[in-house]
Amino acid sequence: MKVIIIGGGIIGAALAQNLKLTNADVTVIDIGGGATIASFGWLNASFFLNHDHFKLRLAGLDAWRRLGVPLTWSGALCWEKKGKALEEQFQSFVKLGYHTEFIDEKSFLELEPHVCSPGQAIRFGSEGVAEPRETTQALLRGVKRLRGIEVLGITTKAGHVTGVDTVQGQILADRVIVASGTGSPSLLKSVDVKLPMQHNSGGIMRTARLPVRLSHVLVTPEGEVRQDKDGFIWTPTKVQHHKITTDKNEKKLELLADKAIIRLRKLLPTTKLIWEELISSSRPIPKDGLPVFGPAGPEGLFVAVTHSGMTLAAVIAELLCSQICDRKLSDDQANIAVSYDINRFKNKSF
Ligand SMILES: Cc1cc2nc3c(=O)[nH]c(=O)nc-3n(C[C@H](O)[C@H](O)[C@H](O)COP(=O)(O)OP(=O)(O)OC[C@H]3O[C@@H](n4cnc5c(N)ncnc54)[C@H](O)[C@@H]3O)c2cc1C
Repeated sequence: MKVIIIGGGIIGAALAQNLKLTNADVTVIDIGGGATIASFGWLNASFFLNHDHFKLRLAGLDAWRRLGVPLTWSGALCWEKKGKALEEQFQSFVKLGYHTEFIDEKSFLELEPHVCSPGQAIRFGSEGVAEPRETTQALLRGVKRLRGIEVLGITTKAGHVTGVDTVQGQILADRVIVASGTGSPSLLKSVDVKLPMQHNSGGIMRTARLPVRLSHVLVTPEGEVRQDKDGFIWTPTKVQHHKITTDKNEKKLELLADKAIIRLRKLLPTTKLIWEELISSSRPIPKDGLPVFGPAGPEGLFVAVTHSGMTLAAVIAELLCSQICDRKLSDDQANIAVSYDINRFKNKSF
């Protein structure tokens, strides 16, 4: 079976890795750029839109552990809320059965001695980080790739996909997967499939290399912060980056980076901080905020587009791989598949 995946971001890469194990002949076509290289890389189930979304994210963390690529399971320390609101948040996670601890000042300072203590925090012990570039590269190892090539549309015959049209001509395939982030709606339009999306720009800032050591993903009122193994500190350019907010300075990248440094200084007052890199991107987010994956339109065409794609890539890839290979889904998997089917947008006007 010849499979083309349009998109070599984290979703396309995780899918390619799963399909490789089925003996499918997989080619990833990618024009470059995308959201993955601008991602913060936090793997979590503590941000969710509804209970099913929480369960999908939990399954996402488990699926990453099965995929066998190097990840960092550092845990996350969260203090976006304070006092009673933080305690209530803690209780709500305990009720969900999520791996959560309440952290007092003494424990906080033991865990993160360089960070200005918030007094109290909650710790999500099962969360971690997938370094976006490294992880994508690791997943794509051994997969055929056509890079720098734009797919113009999907080709079909008698209601079945036959391949893709590219600037260099048609490439034939039995199955085509649109994992093209914000480029997905226009590709799907070529076969009359509607995928309404939100418009949400974002970006990530990286400091110069620093000796200070942060052990956790920090989820703070000043935004999310983490340090990678090479000593670089990363933070999104927007506070609460998962929310849809617009900043009138969105296109002034240097100003955004300067503002991010000012926020970081509140957390690390004794550390000399300068920024070195800012990567700007749009977030691929379906209109209702929830993931979209599964079959779409003509026979043999599939789609996978989501926000929180770092967290969800492994589980979406597992499920989609079963659908592509016509494997029988378990009842649980079938229920998930229905919830995130693209057909939910069919009769909706946005
Ligand atoms: C600032 C920021 C912070 C984030 N932080 C987190 C986080 O901490 N945790 C988390 O879980 N998620 C996070 N996300 C979201 C996550 O990064 C994305 O959901 C995920 O990267 C999407 O991956 P993707 O493979 O679907 O899309 P992309 O990475 O965008 O990949 C799609 C690829 O398709 C290619 N493509 C598009 N159209 C075509 C075409 N016509 N022809 C050929 N190629 C094409 C593009 O070039 C691109 O490389 C963040 C996103 C941003 C922007």
